[in-house]
Amino acid sequence: AAKAAGRRTHYFFNDELRQRTEHQNSIHNRMRLGLKNNEFRLVYQPIVNLTNGKIEKCEALLRWTDDNGDTVSPAEFIPVAESTGLIHELGQFVLEQACADWSLLHKGNMRIGLSINRSERELNDLNAAKQWLECISQHQLPTEKVTFEITESLLMSNKQRQIQILHYLRSHGVKIAIDDFGTGYSSINYLQRYPVDYLKIDRSFLNNAPENRIQVALTEALLRVARALDIDVIAEGVENKAQWEFLQRQQCDFAQGFYISHGLSLDELITFLKKWQF
Ligand code: C2E
Ligand code: MG
Ligand code: MG
Ligand code: MG
Repeated sequence: AAKAAGRRTHYFFNDELRQRTEHQNSIHNRMRLGLKNNEFRLVYQPIVNLTNGKIEKCEALLRWTDDNGDTVSPAEFIPVAESTGLIHELGQFVLEQACADWSLLHKGNMRIGLSINRSERELNDLNAAKQWLECISQHQLPTEKVTFEITESLLMSNKQRQIQILHYLRSHGVKIAIDDFGTGYSSINYLQRYPVDYLKIDRSFLNNAPENRIQVALTEALLRVARALDIDVIAEGVENKAQWEFLQRQQCDFAQGFYISHGLSLDELITFLKKWQF
């Protein structure tokens, strides 16, 4: 009986695996076509410097509306792109589009930094990193204005090649941010060992602040460590006034979230920047 059950489980597992693979393949193929057919676009979410109230940067976030008019969340398609390798093409698109948009903003006298997400898999190729720097310089974008966001798991995994590439990028002036800090193991010890300029505290971290005392204490501690290491902290997912004021009291450096703005199309961003007053 055990043998039969074992075989059944085995069977079931294969079935599930096959279904998942098919689903992934279908998303992959739709994405490949989507890239050709301009179904991808970027939105920009403003990031505020809490000390002077200025919008100093914006994060480029990928959006996909497929040929059926359905929007697919990056939380769904990014992992597929990562596992099939299409993330390289997607990432290239993101960087090129963001640089081109930055040029337009710059011509309109809107000085702003760009924050761009990079997956771990995109960071295993030095030639790709060289191409990114080329793309940035072709658009006359100062490298200091560009931040690449990577998740904390990359540091935890201690991947030497990727970390070397981070050093390489940083030696050319590009800034590095640790994204979603607080969702993984979040060892603050790693921060002093790796090339890091910004720490983005995940929104789950702020969820219950300022009501929850533990959460407040953790945020305070994190800010103190970051300050000692000369790392600027960006709070993600700021959704209300209470959180905003709390972060100001804590002398957090930057804030990003729906309380300030959702991700905006380039046109919307331009309007937003013109209207923004602290
Ligand atoms: P992320 O880099 O942590 O981006 C922040 C996510 O939080 C975005 O979701 C944003 O819309 C959302 N968010 C911002 N403020 C708030 C808030 O106040 N409340 C709430 N509830 N959510 C907020 P989005 O755009 O769905 O992106 C999800 C993730 O997909 C990103 O997380 C990032 O890891 C990945 N991603 C997006 N674009 C790219 C890309 O171009 N390349 C790569 N590699 N990954 C990307
Ligand atoms: Mg990010
Ligand atoms: Mg984030
Ligand atoms: Mg996040």
